Amino acid sequence: MLSIQEIVESGLCIGCGLCAAIAPDDIVIRSTTNGAERPAERVPVTGDALAEINRVCPGLHVEVEPTAPEEDHSALWGQVRRLAKGHAGDPTVRFESATGGVLTALGQFMLTSGRVEQVLHVGPVPGDPLNWQAKVSTTPAEVAEGSRSRYGPVAPLTRLVEVLDSGIPTAVVAKPCDIAGVRSMLRGLAIGHPGDVRYVLAMACGGASLLTKTTDMLDSFGVAPDQVKSLSYRGYGNPGPTRVVADDGSTHELTYQQLWEDEGTWDLQWRCKVCADGMGEVADIVSLDCWPGGGPTVEDDGFNGIIARTIEGAELLDAAIAERVIVITDDDLPVHETLELWQPHQSRRKRAVPQRLAAMAASGLPVTAYTGVHFDRFTTGSVDDGTMVRIERGANRDPQPRFS
Ligand SMILES: Cc1cc2nc3c(=O)[nH]c(=O)nc-3n(C[C@H](O)[C@H](O)[C@H](O)COP(=O)(O)OP(=O)(O)OC[C@H]3O[C@@H](n4cnc5c(N)ncnc54)[C@H](O)[C@@H]3O)c2cc1C
Ligand code: SF4
Ligand code: SF4
Repeated sequence: MLSIQEIVESGLCIGCGLCAAIAPDDIVIRSTTNGAERPAERVPVTGDALAEINRVCPGLHVEVEPTAPEEDHSALWGQVRRLAKGHAGDPTVRFESATGGVLTALGQFMLTSGRVEQVLHVGPVPGDPLNWQAKVSTTPAEVAEGSRSRYGPVAPLTRLVEVLDSGIPTAVVAKPCDIAGVRSMLRGLAIGHPGDVRYVLAMACGGASLLTKTTDMLDSFGVAPDQVKSLSYRGYGNPGPTRVVADDGSTHELTYQQLWEDEGTWDLQWRCKVCADGMGEVADIVSLDCWPGGGPTVEDDGFNGIIARTIEGAELLDAAIAERVIVITDDDLPVHETLELWQPHQSRRKRAVPQRLAAMAASGLPVTAYTGVHFDRFTTGSVDDGTMVRIERGANRDPQPRFS
């Protein structure tokens, strides 16, 4: 069993906030000096609470449980019942959201169709545009307030225990690692527990940047963090600009290509470099970008790739299409060719992860346990030298923040 400090200092914590939801009196999520969000402990957590955190922490475990027939499984891309391309039927949702608005449209549809009564996702902290937080939305308008991408730290699961204890039918929309934590929590619910999470939806995720990615950009604009009036990383177009409006009314923009052109400035969290589930194999539905080659060349109308992975996901997608909430433009696409074309970086990373994990283990560090991911079917298990060097330099080591 690992202490919270050991999880954080090994680099496995992604700051999902689930431990703080489990032990709210003793753990809060705080910003670290290196631009992450990590659990701070009042006193070191021990006993049953620590055992539960070790069971569900998505830094430590990701469990993929395929339910689809074998012919719908890909070792690299997980189970895929349906792979399509499309967008939100509502043009405003489509325009304002990160890509084609599929996650926002489905979040709204799950509420309006009575499938759930609330959606747990994330959104900007009101009055504090640099920071995002967990958000429980009960209306379509609230779901739309939390759309678009947060390319920085955010802890979606700080409210998961509250949501489960409420017994209210819920959907969760979050990153794949967050969804892995939700699935682990659901697997451990005692018989008779009111927890009622009906759908879990994810975006494809290449990695979550530290806040330094954002503050470096503000520096380049000459805008101090406390002078930011509004900040949008993308959306309002596809992919849409990264736009900062300062208190003095000045507006500063970067294109998506400018924001991400230099990989050396991505400031990704360590956990993301050893992530084998950036494609959300744990989710019911995954929404993704679908630019050939993995990046945009022009601004255009937004289209999402959509993967229905489970029976629940496939049924939800069918119903949303029937109601024109989702419009499909290409259907039943071949899995391997299409996802290699749209998500080449995901393919490269997943093939590299076993070697990176082997380097962590060889350095005496704990590693994320992936259950149901068959690395041996697409890669070898040798040790990645570059990761060894980075570990020797301490690149994996996150500081644990102070409680107060
Ligand atoms: C950190 C990060 C990395 C990404 N990497 C990839 C990638 O490699 N490949 C790819 O195809 N797409 C990636 N995306 C996803 C892409 O930006 C779009 O979000 C995706 O295509 C879904 O589009 P949409 O229009 O359906 O989303 P929207 O309708 O805008 O909905 C987005 C939903 O995601 C939630 N959300 C946003 N940011 C976060 C976050 N940081 N943590 C948890 N929940 C969040 C919002 O609350 C909202 O519910 C990434 C997104 C993020 C946030
Ligand atoms: S990954 Fe989540 S549950 Fe695990 S230590 Fe970090 S914040 Fe806590
Ligand atoms: S890359 Fe993986 S670990 Fe990192 S935020 Fe995305 S899903 Fe989580």
